[in-house]
Amino acid sequence: MSKKGDMFYAWTSDAELAKKAECGGAVTSLLKFALEKKMVDGVFAVTKGQDIYDAVPVLITDPKEIDKTAGSLHCGTLLMSKLVKKYLDGASNMKIAMTVKGCDMMGLYELAKRQQINLDNVIMIGVNCGGTVSPVTARKMIADKFGVDPDTVHKEEIDKGQFIIEFEGGHKGISMDELEEAGYGRRPNCRRCKLKVPRGADLACGNWGVIGDKAGKATFVEVCSDKGADWFSRAAKAGALATEAPNPKGLEMRQKVE
Ligand code: FAD
Repeated sequence: MSKKGDMFYAWTSDAELAKKAECGGAVTSLLKFALEKKMVDGVFAVTKGQDIYDAVPVLITDPKEIDKTAGSLHCGTLLMSKLVKKYLDGASNMKIAMTVKGCDMMGLYELAKRQQINLDNVIMIGVNCGGTVSPVTARKMIADKFGVDPDTVHKEEIDKGQFIIEFEGGHKGISMDELEEAGYGRRPNCRRCKLKVPRGADLACGNWGVIGDKAGKATFVEVCSDKGADWFSRAAKAGALATEAPNPKGLEMRQKVE
């Protein structure tokens, strides 16, 4: 059992999903569990389109399709809340589980205040977010600063203050400070955003704080509501997720970096 305020390292028990997920795959496992157990009618998340610069929002109703939403797209500047209002009738007729960055979560609350989204029908799994890079800026930055053809990049990540790319023939990282001083890097709105851990969601997940042998292989999960506690506990009990207590040093580091 878990309760609001609890924190865990968690990872998926699905080996195939683990290969596709950003770190532990806990987010995708929880979304799949919610759909399989009919806690929700659909999952609203993001998938890769043509390339890493093309983040596509998707509504998924078949649990078999969920795995394609695994992974983090840092060039995904989508505002998910607006899309729920515009294209999903504000969740008035269907229950959805959705992945949210801090801005998506704030947007959902603002629209709910204005009766444009029904939050009773939404469960939110938050991802910590240090910021997104506009796809146009990213392509230019990769060409100009990395000296790499943006079309050859198949993976990007932001880790320990660096923007890192993997491309045909190698990988390369440059510090975000250096990129931003040169006029590239994260969007200005993201740079001034103070909401890095979305505790207004039901669960807040990220990689900050995962250290030791679990680094890169587990998701750090903070339980932020009773709904989130129930969701997480049920998924762990059913074996969709494995969990362990976070390393105390990792907790300290997460707090510091936040
Ligand atoms: P997975 O199982 O791989 O699931 C990832 C989920 O994120 C999927 O549901 C996917 O659809 C969704 N997603 C992918 N891209 C986007 C997007 N652009 N907008 C909304 N949803 C998206 N963690 C930190 O601790 N520190 C950070 O600084 C940090 N920055 C991040 C920045 C961005 C833009 C994103 C998307 C995530 C960031 N994270 C950060 C979270 C981290 O990358 C992982 O998503 C998190 O640890 C969960 O890992 P997982 O393996 O369980 O996720």
